[in-house]
Amino acid sequence: MFCKVSHKVCYDSETLAEEALIQHHARQHHVPGRGPVNIYLCDHCDGWHFTSKGEPHPSLSRPDVQERIRKEREGNYWERKLRG
Ligand SMILES: [Zn+2]
Repeated sequence: MFCKVSHKVCYDSETLAEEALIQHHARQHHVPGRGPVNIYLCDHCDGWHFTSKGEPHPSLSRPDVQERIRKEREGNYWERKLRG
């Protein structure tokens, strides 16, 4: 589902949006300072969206999350290598 005002993907809850943000970071290699860094509650659709502005979400700097992102990236790397 997309927001009619921001045209961004809507997440039903903060937890879902946070999880999606972590996944996004794990799967994509961002140029520092670009790409979504945080989530916010939308005034228009009552859903949660990504934002590339402001401070990074505190969860992204949690050691267990960092570890997960690192592992997922490694997994993706080997997946690509093996597919060749
Ligand atoms: Zn919205």
